[in-house]
Amino acid sequence: MEVTIFGSGYVGLVTGACLAEVGNDVLCIDVDPDKIDLLNSGGVPIYEPGLDELIRNNREAGRLRFSTDAEAGVKHGLFQFIAVGTPPDEDGSADLQYVLSVARTIGQHMEGYRILVDKSTVPVGTADKVAETVRTALAERDQSIDFDVVSNPEFLKEGAAIEDFMRPDRIIVGTDNPRTAELLRALYAPFNRNRDRLMVMDVRSAELTKYAANAMLATKISFMNELSNIAEIVGADIEKVRVGIGSDPRIGYQFIYPGCGYGGSCFPKDVRALERTARGVGYEPQLLQAVEAVNFRQKELLFDKLKAQFDGDLAGRTIALWGLAFKPNTDDMREASSRVLMESLWAAGAKVQAFDPVAMDEARRLYGERPDLVLAEDATAALVGADALVIVTEWTQFRSPNFRLIRDTLARPLLLDGRNILDPQQATAAGLTYLSIGRAPAT
Ligand code: NAD
Repeated sequence: MEVTIFGSGYVGLVTGACLAEVGNDVLCIDVDPDKIDLLNSGGVPIYEPGLDELIRNNREAGRLRFSTDAEAGVKHGLFQFIAVGTPPDEDGSADLQYVLSVARTIGQHMEGYRILVDKSTVPVGTADKVAETVRTALAERDQSIDFDVVSNPEFLKEGAAIEDFMRPDRIIVGTDNPRTAELLRALYAPFNRNRDRLMVMDVRSAELTKYAANAMLATKISFMNELSNIAEIVGADIEKVRVGIGSDPRIGYQFIYPGCGYGGSCFPKDVRALERTARGVGYEPQLLQAVEAVNFRQKELLFDKLKAQFDGDLAGRTIALWGLAFKPNTDDMREASSRVLMESLWAAGAKVQAFDPVAMDEARRLYGERPDLVLAEDATAALVGADALVIVTEWTQFRSPNFRLIRDTLARPLLLDGRNILDPQQATAAGLTYLSIGRAPAT
């Protein structure tokens, strides 16, 4: 089948590469000429395990092409995927300008029936706005051509995006048109063989499902972070509490890890956007507001803990950071906890020596050259002369470190584990002062 994807970011590239992999003819469109040039010369603008190879193979096979020519994109695919960004507006609501700009482009150039498939995360009611935009663009051309708008929210996780797309837990198709639903079912059939995971529902429910999923996950994290702070004060160990509650199948073990807050391009913005949607219809979203507030406070926790160790004065100190990405297996630093920590440290006059297995270029792009940021060659180099090590991202390679080497390389043997990935006893046995989240300091 012929497919066009607007937006060649995380979602667009993964969607395009996976749809090409099963035999479709995919044309990816982006407004960023540098991104398209890079893709056309064999590069990949983001780090996502397996994506390089998938793009290379399908490009070579001629099933995956990249272009800035939006008109050619509209002419190419029966399916017109919209996978552009929906960043937060000033008031927290989703900024729909990119989505509606694609809708307008499609309305301006379409010559026959098209299915607009909205993969971007968008507030309830957006499909109606997309349809209205297409209709207006068609009317300006004195045209009346049939089209459908489908909500098909994406649930992939950065770091495991290919696997998630190839073997989805569910495929949500929001449409009231049974014929369109069948066309989407045919497109997704290769990813839906094991058992039927495709759910057809009305458009508004599909749009809300995506926000509901992210808000639920963010709630789990904030709930555990809130409990971890209580545990620490009352002298309990949140890791024992976690195991204790996870054993109840109604609660489960997934996604109940305490830490230094959630980040990334989705949870923070989607919780905020859902809050805005609720307020917009006159409903006060008390729980969502608390989820957000708890997360905000949790992201400041590492800095507060460090400050307490240095009698409130971090000026002139050097702090080593392991992990910059908002989670492992990605180079994405959008709303990462590392950024809140680094920016607080800089404001307090401290210097940062950081290492991340893949996000170093992204850190360079975000912060450029500055005297108070050293991007270290490797994890050990980040420690040299530092007054403390803080683990911010739970990369596997940080999970079993050489504690003695850490102690000997740091200027002061202080280790703050923002993700509770290390064993307190091992760390203290090696002579480190070990601090973590929701547990009394190990002795
Ligand atoms: P991204 O910022 O990585 O990519 C968006 C791309 O769209 C950019 O390359 C940009 O240049 C391009 N673009 C903007 N306007 C365009 C236009 N008019 N025509 C063509 N291209 C255009 O964004 P992303 O992380 O891929 O997210 C896209 C959407 O999917 C968002 O709504 C997001 O909330 C949602 N989503 C993201 C994830 C994730 O893990 N990143 C997961 C599920 C859903």
